[in-house]
Parts: sequence; structure tokens; C-alpha cells
Amino acid sequence: MAFPYKKITEEDIAYIRSVTAPERVYTGSAISEDYYHDEMPEYGIYPPDLLVEALNKEEVSAIMAYAYKENIPVVCRGAGTGLAGGATCKYGGIMLSTLKMNKIFPVDQKNVTITAEPGALLADIQAKVSEVGLFYPPDPGEIFSTIGGNVVTNAGGMKAVRYGLTRDFVRCIEAVLPDGSIETFSSNVVKNTTGYDIKDLIIGSEGTLAVVTQVTLKLLPMPVLSSTLVIPFHSLEECADMVPRLLALQAIPTAIEFLEQELIEIVDRQLDRRLPVKIGEAVILVQYDAATRQELDDAIEAASADALEFGAIDCFVADTPATQAQVWGVRKGILEAMKADSVSTEECDIVIPRSNISRYVREAKKICKDLGLRVEPNGHCGDGNIHTQILRDPGMTDEEWKINTEKASRRLYALAKELKGQMSGEHGIGNGRIEYLEEFVGPRMIRLYKAIKLAFDDKLILNPGKIIEFNEDRKKG
Ligand SMILES: Cc1cc2nc3c(=O)[nH]c(=O)nc-3n(C[C@H](O)[C@H](O)[C@H](O)COP(=O)(O)OP(=O)(O)OC[C@H]3O[C@@H](n4cnc5c(N)ncnc54)[C@H](O)[C@@H]3O)c2cc1C
Repeated sequence: MAFPYKKITEEDIAYIRSVTAPERVYTGSAISEDYYHDEMPEYGIYPPDLLVEALNKEEVSAIMAYAYKENIPVVCRGAGTGLAGGATCKYGGIMLSTLKMNKIFPVDQKNVTITAEPGALLADIQAKVSEVGLFYPPDPGEIFSTIGGNVVTNAGGMKAVRYGLTRDFVRCIEAVLPDGSIETFSSNVVKNTTGYDIKDLIIGSEGTLAVVTQVTLKLLPMPVLSSTLVIPFHSLEECADMVPRLLALQAIPTAIEFLEQELIEIVDRQLDRRLPVKIGEAVILVQYDAATRQELDDAIEAASADALEFGAIDCFVADTPATQAQVWGVRKGILEAMKADSVSTEECDIVIPRSNISRYVREAKKICKDLGLRVEPNGHCGDGNIHTQILRDPGMTDEEWKINTEKASRRLYALAKELKGQMSGEHGIGNGRIEYLEEFVGPRMIRLYKAIKLAFDDKLILNPGKIIEFNEDRKKG
């Protein structure tokens, strides 16, 4: 078994340098403190003992084979934009950065796919496929994340309502297993029922099962036209009630997001970005993509009429690229603005069946308010993924913040369970939500997770202490 892990020695450092390059291996103060945490430092600050920037799968394989033999933990790191405390060295050891493994191969026009190394940025992949009129739909709010990170967190984002998640676009994965062996899971085929679907286990595994070294992604034709409706209502609850109505219309929305006026003001105050309308207590943003003007007009007209009949205060159509960019710029600024507007944040990434969003929103707000916490439920209401961000105000002591956010999280997860939802829709468990997982999924499921982990990583060297914790002393996130 893994514990205790070997502490890295000068000999280990020399070996990692010999299989990579001295100028890509860092130790001690040469490692930037950015690598001590991801976008949620609240979920743990853990300095790596060594940071190595790999250039190819052979280097990754050599590092993993050595770490396996020597019992040294390894954590893979993309752009570090994760929101679960996933890409952090909870047990020290090696941080393996894939940022320099960023090749994007030419679009395969016959299979309508693209292949890329894990460090390729989502923004670069989206740009490359658009050059040939194609479209990679997954659209998490951070386009400067890596495709490797997107795959192993099964990133969702705004356009999941119409197009689905990262998982729905992964054709095959090449990965290095914890013992250093290189394997390919599935191939560039549309269907596959050949044995267990290991590719689908690696997707969403948060770097705990394998190091992804290459992915092949399915593409779609680029939508020709799009428009966004900005619909103000008297409350967030009314916006939530509007979601099932929008989904029942003939046209499938690309994205449905919501936020309250208080949050709109935070984005305005912190980032100087504002929506084209400033009425109502909350707004719902609805984007439609279409192949023809008629199809787009019909979708917008039907949604506007239905919203107004349901009690919307107004319906504003953002149909130029500039107004659409303005609207989505506000939405995409939410996280940054909330961080700037508070001492720290706790974020629940709960996902609820869409029939239950309205009840979730009402009860979640009450849970947080009863505990004296500022809460901003917002985000992907169209797929039921309600980011329930709790914001810490300056007056609150560390103790109050810790106790109350813990109570709020437990109650929110219990509510999610009661409403047949899940703990995390897209950000994952990482280190930040680990202490709540067993209560949510139950001990039988944890035994199954542990068996899967051990089947890939019998020495527990890959991203240990994330999703599940084998070390009883470190069980708390
Ligand atoms: C402003 C903002 C908005 C966001 N919006 C969304 C959103 O709408 N939807 C959404 O899903 N997420 C969102 N995120 C979260 C984040 O961008 C995603 O989780 C993203 O997929 C992380 O990619 P990364 O390259 O930064 O990965 P990292 O943070 O570096 O790592 C994330 C996890 O993946 C593992 N990992 C990374 N690369 C590899 C690899 N090659 N092989 C194996 N494991 C690996 C790490 O060990 C870690 O567990 C947002 C983040 C920010 C800051």
C-alpha cells in the first residue's frame, strides 16, 4: 500500500531531469505558488515537491513508471482553473504539468473530428475548428482551460442544454496508466461496445485513474445564426419556473442561464460589465442557434410570447454579435466578480432534475439565509446545474465561516438528494467536496469507487486523496 509515500530525494530529482530536461524541472522556491492550489485555494494549499513540464507521452510514461516503482505521488495539472481543489499535491510529490503538450493536429474532415494533446487550450481548439466551418460545442466558462482538464472533469458549461457535455464529444483517449504503460481507449469510431467502456471511466475521473496524453473529439457543423433573449422577471424563482416551459417549446435552446439583480450589480461594480436591460429582480438568458433566419425567428418569437404570457416583465433580443457578447460577458464574469466582492467563496455545484429546479432554488436560498450566509444561486438552470455560491463577508470570523458553510453544504447536499439530484454537475469532487461524498452516495458506492481506483492504481500514486480518500487520517477535505 501507498502510505507513507516516499519523500522526494536528490536522486529522484536527478532521475526526473534525466528523462525530461533540467530546465523543465523545478523544486523549492522555483515552483510558483500558483501551483499550490487551483481556482479554489479554499480547498487546500499544497506545495508540490517537484514540478515537471512534460513534452510528450514518452516522458509522461517514464515519470509514471519511476514514481510507481519508488512510491511517489503524482498529480497531473492542466491550466489549474479547476473549482474542486483537484490539481493539487495533497500528499506532496510530483506535479506533472501537461501545458507544454499542446499540439493540435489538423482537422480530420472525413471523420469530422480533431485530435489534440492534453495541454491544448479549449480556446485554441475552438478557433482551429471554426477555421474550417466546424464547431466544438462544450463551452465551460473558462476557455483558457486545457482539453485534458476538460475531459477528466467532464466539463459542462453553458451549451450543455442543446449539445451535451465533454463526454458526448470524446471519441477516444490515449493515456498513461500509473505504472507507466501507454494505452488507447476506444478509437475514432462512432459506436463501440467492445468490453467495458474504460474511456468513459477516465472521462470525469479527475486525474485519479490515468494521465490523458491525447484525445480525439467529435465536431459538429458551425451554427450559422444565433440570438439571445434577456428576459427579466420579478424573482429568481419565477425564472426557475420558466425553465421547463422553455424546454417544452419546439426549438431546443442552446443555453439557459439565470442570475439575480444583486449578482448583476456585483458584476457591474467589480468588472464594469452590464446587461442591456436593468429591470426586474432576476433575469433569464436564453440562447438559440439555428441554420436559417426563419428557424431562429420562430424560436425567438415562441419563447418571447411564452415568457410574456407567463409574467416576464419584458423580452429583450440580443441579435447582433456585439450585444450577444455584452450579455454573455456578464454571465462569464460572474465567478471573477463574486471572488472580488467577497473574502472567500464556497461553491456548491449541485445538479437537480429540471422539474425540481424551482423548489431547489427556493429552499437553497432559505437554508443559506437562515444561517446568515450571503448566497447567489446562478448559472446553468437549463440543465439543472445551479451553482449555489456562498460569499463570505468581511465581518465573519474564520470559525463562523467554517461552521456555517459546512452546515449549509450538508443541508444543500441533503436537499439535492431529496430532490433526486447529484452533488456535482461539472466541477467534480476533488479535495473540496470529499468529506460530503460518502454521506451522499453511501458506503456501497464508495466501495465500488475504491475498487475501480485500485484496478487502475494499485499503489494509489495518482492524485491521491481526491474523490475518495484511502487514508483514514486525511478523510476530511
Ligand atoms: C471562471 C471560470 C468558469 C468556469 N466555468 C466552468 C463551466 O462552466 N463548466 C465547467 O465544467 N467548468 C468550469 N470551470 C472549471 C474549470 O475550468 C474546468 O474544470 C476545466 O475543465 C479545468 O481544466 P484545467 O485545464 O484548468 O484543469 P486543472 O484545474 O489543471 O485540473 C483539473 C483536474 O484534472 C486533472 N487533470 C488535468 N489534466 C489532466 C490530464 N492530462 N490527465 C489526467 N488528469 C488531468 C487534474 O489532476 C485535476 O484533478 C470554470 C472555471 C473558472 C475559473
